[in-house]
Amino acid sequence: MLPAAAIDRVLSEVERSAEEAVAFTADLIRIPTVNPPGEHYEDCARFIGERLEKSGFVIELFAAEGRPEHTPAHPRINVVGTRPGRLPRPTVHLNGHFDVVPAGEGWTLDPFGGVVRDGKIYGRGSCDMKAGIAAAVFAVEAIRRAGVELPGTVEVSGTVDEESGGFAGVAWLAERGRISAARTDYCIIPEPLNVDRVCIGHRGVYWFEVAAFGRIAHGSMPFLGVSAIDGMARFLQAVQDELQPALDARRTDVPVVPPAARLATINVNGVFGGQPVEGIQTPCVADVCRAVFDRRFLLEEGFDATKQEIEKLLDDVRQRVPRVRYSLEDLMVVHPTRTPDDSPVISAIESGIARVLGRPATRVASPGTYDHKHVARIAGVPHCVAYGPGELEQAHQPDEYCRLDDLVNSTKVLALAVLELTGALA
Ligand SMILES: [Zn+2]
Repeated sequence: MLPAAAIDRVLSEVERSAEEAVAFTADLIRIPTVNPPGEHYEDCARFIGERLEKSGFVIELFAAEGRPEHTPAHPRINVVGTRPGRLPRPTVHLNGHFDVVPAGEGWTLDPFGGVVRDGKIYGRGSCDMKAGIAAAVFAVEAIRRAGVELPGTVEVSGTVDEESGGFAGVAWLAERGRISAARTDYCIIPEPLNVDRVCIGHRGVYWFEVAAFGRIAHGSMPFLGVSAIDGMARFLQAVQDELQPALDARRTDVPVVPPAARLATINVNGVFGGQPVEGIQTPCVADVCRAVFDRRFLLEEGFDATKQEIEKLLDDVRQRVPRVRYSLEDLMVVHPTRTPDDSPVISAIESGIARVLGRPATRVASPGTYDHKHVARIAGVPHCVAYGPGELEQAHQPDEYCRLDDLVNSTKVLALAVLELTGALA
């Protein structure tokens, strides 16, 4: 049992290191790890690794050999730091992705400047999720500075490509057993879900392509052909009129935020058919039209029923439009995840939030997905949550920022959670 004075020392060390944590976040923002295409990954992995070495971690760099996106121009390099405790287990793994989405338009300050102003740090990735990486690093550093020796092991990783699916990052590490049930007991991902909320999972994703095939003919005599675009329009109409009302009536018990995302949803990512509109036009009936759909499904729906519903809708349209041939292809499937309600990792974060912020935590689930899926599905580690500084709504926005008091408070919560989960408080 750790004396209360030692816990207080850890929390004061977090406060004492606040400026260092902000400076570290700014330094991370100044490494423009933009994805796509995946720039400066190795610089960022080494920079995080050097900071962790100063905190007593043994560092390993992992190049995502075998992944097609790991190229000489844009190598995919992950860093994992390990600080063994008195015992190898339990092991708590803190994982953050260091890739960021492109800056985009609309910024009023340098997206890669790491500007600190009015109690906030600005920049692409400030909130999603370089402040989160800083929180993980300085949580474990505060424990070291307070002179607390952990009974269990703590690991901190910085990984690539979360924004594009995480296949060369957390999925790669999980496939090779570096994050796995055989060695990892608990995983915390400091994604920006708000400083008083703990995220217990996400909805499922089903991306699919529907193609409509017609018959080419002269555009002055369209009655001699079959328009694939008209065929696609019939399917899109069915999605709007028949599928959408059914989806609007389904609501999950998982606490997905924002509230509108508790429903099943569908979005059309893109439609392409006929001739490119910017090219020289010729009089032709379109013989092919393709559309890509993004269906977010609920834990209660499951993937099989979700796909069968699309197949049934497409079959109905085939009956009504017999001259058009339709095909369906799966592009990506991510199953929903939900951390068990009684998981120690949830209660560790919740008690940390209550202690640091003096108010109860809220359990939420993400409207999108993040690397949690690889931890749960590939690594087989059920005890995983997302918790970190920054507001979800700031992610991917112009003038993205993270509040400095969020950074300090979430660092404290993470430090308390590491103490509890490694057994230091037992
Ligand atoms: Zn993120």
